[in-house]
Amino acid sequence: MPHVEILKDLYFVERGYLNGNHFVYRSNAPILIDTGYKAHFAETERAIAALGVNLSRTRLIVNTHTHSDHIGGNKIIQDKSGCDIALHQVGKHFIDTRDDWSTWWRYKRQEADFFECTLGLEDGDTVDIGPHEFRVIYTPGHASDGIVLYNEKGKVLISSDTLWENDVATVTVRIEGSTAPFRCLESLETIESLDVKVVYPGHGAAFMDFKGAVSRAEKKIRGYLAQPEKTGQDLLKRITVYTLLMHGEIPEDRLFDLFMEAHWFRETVDLYFGGDYRGKFDEVLGSFLRRGIVKQRNGCFYTMVKP
Ligand SMILES: [Zn+2]
Repeated sequence: MPHVEILKDLYFVERGYLNGNHFVYRSNAPILIDTGYKAHFAETERAIAALGVNLSRTRLIVNTHTHSDHIGGNKIIQDKSGCDIALHQVGKHFIDTRDDWSTWWRYKRQEADFFECTLGLEDGDTVDIGPHEFRVIYTPGHASDGIVLYNEKGKVLISSDTLWENDVATVTVRIEGSTAPFRCLESLETIESLDVKVVYPGHGAAFMDFKGAVSRAEKKIRGYLAQPEKTGQDLLKRITVYTLLMHGEIPEDRLFDLFMEAHWFRETVDLYFGGDYRGKFDEVLGSFLRRGIVKQRNGCFYTMVKP
């Protein structure tokens, strides 16, 4: 698993799509930023151990938001170490009240465990990752508890799912509300004026073209506002891949039923595509099969996307 030292003793671990990228501060009292997806914790653990970090000594986990691909290792690591866990105060509220709907876990049928959130963060707070000072910037839109972390000295932005290089993270208006795309735009505006040399996103490789990424993201969100069904189409595509990654393989004759059992699928098709469940399912899956993103083996579907 590739990892890069981004500031002294602070490592960026690049994962895939099911697991958010995460960060490890190596010391006798290690600090982690995000912890991947629960089902792949063994790999997360290996990546952290490879850096010579003892998880049972973890002092603090900072999460960029409560989605399952960013908090998956929290409970296991907290049980081992008794570490503090920090989230934006909105995310802290979701965790404190055991709200698995606002975190998307139940809505998208994702695996995740509650943990104890011991610290609530606010916009403008400073978080010390060893000697490195990061400013907390509240960036709702994709997630109502989303934050980015900015290190002014190194001009480093940990952008999580607020900013990716060439795409935008899913907008789920049935949970986040119909104004979510506007909040995405506001959050991009909030970070736009930062002086950034390198961006470490929640998914994908690090990149330098910060301004370009912001304007590409703004354009895509404006496209969502102009043609709402694009939001629905992207959501169907994303969560189809996500579901296949979560299960590894799914029997061909089971996949449609599995989708129909999930809130996200029916609601998305209802909202954007007039309730044509079978038609949308066949269309999305058919295009993935043609493009080689989804493949078939032993009567099962699986995806080629990196987990
Ligand atoms: Zn997310």
